[in-house]
Amino acid sequence: MRRLHFHILPAIILVILLSASIRPASAQDTSGPIYIVQAGDTLSSIASRFNISVDDLMTANTITDPNVLSAGQELVIPGLEGVSGILDTELINFGDSYRSVMRSTQIDKGLFQKLNRIISPTEFYVGANMIVPRQDGAPTYTSTSPVSGDSLLEMAITHNTDVWTVRELNSLSGTWDGLPGDTLYVPSAANDQPANGLPSAFHSARITTLPLKQGGTGEIIVKTDPGVVLGGVLVDFPLHFFPMDDGSQVSLQGVHALLEPGLYPLRLDATLPNGSTQSFEQMVLVISGNYPEDPLLYVDPSTIDPAVTEPEQQKLVGLVKDATPERLWSGEFLSPAIQYAESTYFTSRYGDRRTYIGQGTDLTIEGFHTGLDFGGGTGLPITAPAAGRVIFAEPLTVRGNATIIDHGWGVYSGIWHQSEIQVQVGQMVKQGQIIGLVGGTGRVTGAHLHWELWVNGVQVDPMDWLNESFP
Ligand SMILES: [Zn+2]
Repeated sequence: MRRLHFHILPAIILVILLSASIRPASAQDTSGPIYIVQAGDTLSSIASRFNISVDDLMTANTITDPNVLSAGQELVIPGLEGVSGILDTELINFGDSYRSVMRSTQIDKGLFQKLNRIISPTEFYVGANMIVPRQDGAPTYTSTSPVSGDSLLEMAITHNTDVWTVRELNSLSGTWDGLPGDTLYVPSAANDQPANGLPSAFHSARITTLPLKQGGTGEIIVKTDPGVVLGGVLVDFPLHFFPMDDGSQVSLQGVHALLEPGLYPLRLDATLPNGSTQSFEQMVLVISGNYPEDPLLYVDPSTIDPAVTEPEQQKLVGLVKDATPERLWSGEFLSPAIQYAESTYFTSRYGDRRTYIGQGTDLTIEGFHTGLDFGGGTGLPITAPAAGRVIFAEPLTVRGNATIIDHGWGVYSGIWHQSEIQVQVGQMVKQGQIIGLVGGTGRVTGAHLHWELWVNGVQVDPMDWLNESFP
């Protein structure tokens, strides 16, 4: 969950009170709860989300023109008796579970299911977009894990509360009903701590780049107890964690452009200073990058011969597989064509589906465009997109005159098709420094600059790295 503030509903207080066999006089809000329109929403997407008709939505909000809808606009959602306040949209993050969200938000299960039309708690994956009602001025709760062997009473005393409050907050059927290692919620004055279902060594774990998409970069930021060593797996790539200045650890992992959209596992492993381990796994949604199909490309047949392309591909994968521990870049990357072109001057974007045909043959291969192409004639200056160490600088059959820069932490730039390479292996380069000249060497249909970015063994969309800074 992105937000750290959780709020309680009158309807839920009612449920809790009813379960305690006390019947207060109910005062229902008949106007209905408010949904704040998000960018990309349409009346029909909102109506379908709340399982109501567009007409009912328009009537409740006295809308006459369905095309006039703006982000930030407040809409009353009809048909949700007993619900009031703001209906917030939340992306489920790592560690959030059906049980933990029920507990942290104190939402009634039936209401949550009604709002989100959840069929089963197994649909609770990372990246799922959930509607959570919230109201200002409600209390917040913080998560805690009972030390093994602690009774609820001991835990309640530790947290300056009582067993009955803990029981109600966590919907336990009795004061005996706490699962070993389960995360429970206790009343809290501080609201800077997230409520999650993670094992105790994890203070928090978040994917900060949700939803994950084909060709995207997954950024996972984890806070733990001191001295905890982290590892894990996303899809089937082993994760490498590196320390950040604020004491948290970060892992960057590319998502392959051809990975089928769907649910994939993310597992995090913590090794504690005493040698014991704790793990947590959850499914993560990967969405389509919506990449278009390029027109057929006719190229020199020798550049699509598997006897040539396969060994070259393997060589490249071997060069960029290590995550060196020193981070050499900082901030956003810079277009390598910055010296001669607008940063928006792309002739071909990342991810396009491509079919190459060998001129004069029936040899074809299929793939995707692994980087960004910038137009420009032979001899124009190419600059380093970010600081790093040159680890490769020589001609290849498919990629032509090629330079690879190691930026550290498993992040590498590849610059292909140059007419001239102007750096040497082992050389340190600065961001914006000239490293070579544009050319048409290798598998090309004309002179251009191709820049690609590898993140822990996977080519990602470099545009993301031009627009935001990782981590
Ligand atoms: Zn290209």
